[in-house]
Amino acid sequence: MRCPKCRLEQMESIQAADLIVLRCPVCQGVLLEEGQLRALVSQDLARFIEDVEHHPTPDALDEARSHCYACKVDMELIRGPMDVFINWCASCGSIFLDQGELTSIRQHPSGLR
Ligand SMILES: [Zn+2]
Ligand SMILES: [Zn+2]
Repeated sequence: MRCPKCRLEQMESIQAADLIVLRCPVCQGVLLEEGQLRALVSQDLARFIEDVEHHPTPDALDEARSHCYACKVDMELIRGPMDVFINWCASCGSIFLDQGELTSIRQHPSGLR
């Protein structure tokens, strides 16, 4: 699967407990299937996926539309937990999180709807 954001060819599979998610080796963004975000936060698995030493992506980069390669449609930008803007595919329900966003959500799990 290609990265929705920088559109590199290959994302890496990262295993956290029984979940396998895709992470981009270039931008460190994370692509989650529908339901995986809630599972990651409720089981506190984000630390296995995101290196907290990295710095969040500058805001300017967040304005670019991400693209769901599974559905071949642009993803919607929606306001998620903790006012973090997340990319969401209206077709398959996948979520793409920029580097740092998973950690932001993890630190405030009560913000998860
Ligand atoms: Zn990327
Ligand atoms: Zn999709």
